[in-house]
Parts: sequence; C-alpha cells; structure tokens
Amino acid sequence: MTLKDGQGRKHDYLRISVTDRCNLRCVYCMGDEGIEQAAHESILSYEDILQVVTAGAELGISKIRITGGEPLVRKDVVELIRMIASVPGIRDLAMTTNGTLLPRYAPGLKQAGLNRVNISLDTLQPDKYRKITRCGKLEDALNGIETALRHNLHPVKLNTVLIKGVNDDEVVDFLQLARGKPLHIRFIEYMQIGDHDHFYSNHYLPLSFIEATAKKAGLPLSPIPLPGGAGPAESYSIPGGKGTIGLIHPISKHFCSSCNRLRLTAEGSLKACLYWQDEQPVQPVLNDKKALQELIRKVLSGKPVEHQMAAGGNCGTVNPGAMRSMSKTGG
Ligand code: SAM
Ligand code: SF4
Repeated sequence: MTLKDGQGRKHDYLRISVTDRCNLRCVYCMGDEGIEQAAHESILSYEDILQVVTAGAELGISKIRITGGEPLVRKDVVELIRMIASVPGIRDLAMTTNGTLLPRYAPGLKQAGLNRVNISLDTLQPDKYRKITRCGKLEDALNGIETALRHNLHPVKLNTVLIKGVNDDEVVDFLQLARGKPLHIRFIEYMQIGDHDHFYSNHYLPLSFIEATAKKAGLPLSPIPLPGGAGPAESYSIPGGKGTIGLIHPISKHFCSSCNRLRLTAEGSLKACLYWQDEQPVQPVLNDKKALQELIRKVLSGKPVEHQMAAGGNCGTVNPGAMRSMSKTGG
C-alpha cells in the first residue's frame, strides 16, 4: 500500500521520539538549564508506540527511526527495537543517538534487529566536546562509534552540525576521518529551533562553506548516489575515502518537495512536519486501529507544501525561535 500526503508525496518513513530526556545538553538543542521535561505518565508506552507502528506499516510505512532526546536513556529500549523489528512490513530500523551509551547497548540492539545508527558528533576535540554538550566526554562518543562499526550497524553515519566559530575550523579533520574510516559524515545546517535565537544568529553558516573548504584542502567533493537509500543528504565521495560526506541543508536548499517523513513525539503526537507546530495526539484513537489509520491519513492530508523557514521564515502561525527544541520533538 502507498501512503500519500495532500501534495501526492509518498510517505514511508516514521521517526519516533521515545523520550525527551538526554544525558547531554548540546548548546544548539537545549538552553543552559536543559529542557522542561514531560511527566513520565505523559510519555507513550512501548505498547502504544507499537500500535502506531503496526497501523502505519499496514498503510505503507516501511522505515522507522528511533530518536529523542537520547533514545538510549529510556529503560528497555532494546525491547522496543525487538518489538518493532517483528512488525510485518518494517524493512529498515535505524536509531539517531549521541553514541555515548552505545558501548553498553550496541550488541543487544543489533541482536534485537536494529539495522543502523546515526551518531551525533560535532567536534573531534575533547575540551570542545565538553563545551558543546555541556557535560559529555568525547571518549565516550568515539567508543560508541567504534562499537557501532564493530557490531555492523552499517552504514554508520555521523551527524555534524556546522556551527560558525565553534567547529568550522575542524572541517578538514572530519574529511580526513571519512578518508580513514568507513563513516558517512553528514554536515547539517544549524537550524533555528528552540529558544536560543542569540546563539543561532551568531553561529549559523551555510554548508557551501564545506564544499569550499574541501576544495581548498585538496579534497574536492564528488557527487555519488546515497549510501543506505534515499534521504535528504546530498552525498559525496572524497579522494581516497573509505567513507563519504553528506550535506543536509534544511534551510539554504530545503528538501520539502521530496519529504517522506511523519513523526511521533515522545508524548504521543503525530506531526507531519518538524518545523510547524501542528500536531494530533494519538491517545484518543489508541486500541482502535481503523481510527488510528484515519488519524495518520488526516495528519498527512494537512501536511504543508514546505516548512516555514523555506516559506520565508514566517508561516503566520509560529515564530521559528519559539518552536520546541529538537530534543522535545525528536530530531
Ligand atoms: N540525542 C540524539 C542525538 O543527539 O543524536 C538524538 C536526538 S537529537 C535532537 C537528533 C539530531 O538533531 C542530532 O544529530 C542533533 O545534532 C540535531 N540537532 C539538534 N538541534 C539542532 C539544531 N538546532 N540544528 C540542527 N540540528 C540539530
Ligand atoms: Fe541530547 Fe541529542 Fe539534543 Fe545533544 S542533540 S542535547 S545529545 S538530544
């Protein structure tokens, strides 16, 4: 079955945030004090999440990504992976994580049916890692990456948010990392999400910076088909690279026309677009698969043509700076 939105775009991808909690507090994701956390009772149970996945899979959802917050801080997340992996129709099961807890969980995740991971890493310098994450240890994230490679959670992708004045001096180091290891490093444009406008306005840098820096360093980027299937990243090889480079430009070259994603927040709301506030709670239709499927169709039928930043920064309903942080919605 094919699930389409109101614009005729095929939707086969559901991103599920399993928690708004995190063991780090990245500067571009949360304010100094972290986030106001949802009450435990308002977080969707694994059984409820499974209902949404099963209803979605019957409509045509075949790819699932588990995210957060930090998904590995939620108790028994390996069990959720096992439950989702056994749903008929789910062909690709991935997770986005900061990687710091992967040394403990990667073997169980792989065994439970997780196919692959994206690991967030914005710097290769220990002091800077602590500053960006406000509390993390680079060594933990690097161990997580090595464990993911060892346990075959391929393709292992790294998510690197380009932050002007913070990690723009490390672009060549990241390119060298992708030369030496089978890692797919995806530079992501910094988005104005959450309540930190001031930091954003001083630190946004378009990804054309990566292409220019790579060329200057004698490591020019050559376009290639995407590793691991379609997605919003433009993919490139570099000379002599075991890995690849990806560029994700949600702002300067947005990819709304090919968007295939639906999101489920930790508190159980379906969202058709990360950047708009519109959402519908699933709780009223749980235990009624037909009604749940109707709700999925309804949310998709109202999906906007493009996100508000693409629509000129103001959609008339929300102020981008007032939008919930990525850790609350699920990045
Ligand atoms: N905790 C996990 C992690 O860090 O990978 C998963 C959740 S995190 C919200 C998902 C992704 O969102 C991360 O790769 C993070 O770098 C990205 N992210 C968070 N805030 C962002 C922002 N303002 N702009 C761009 N990417 C952002
Ligand atoms: Fe946590 Fe991920 Fe947000 Fe960093 S980006 S604070 S690791 S949820």
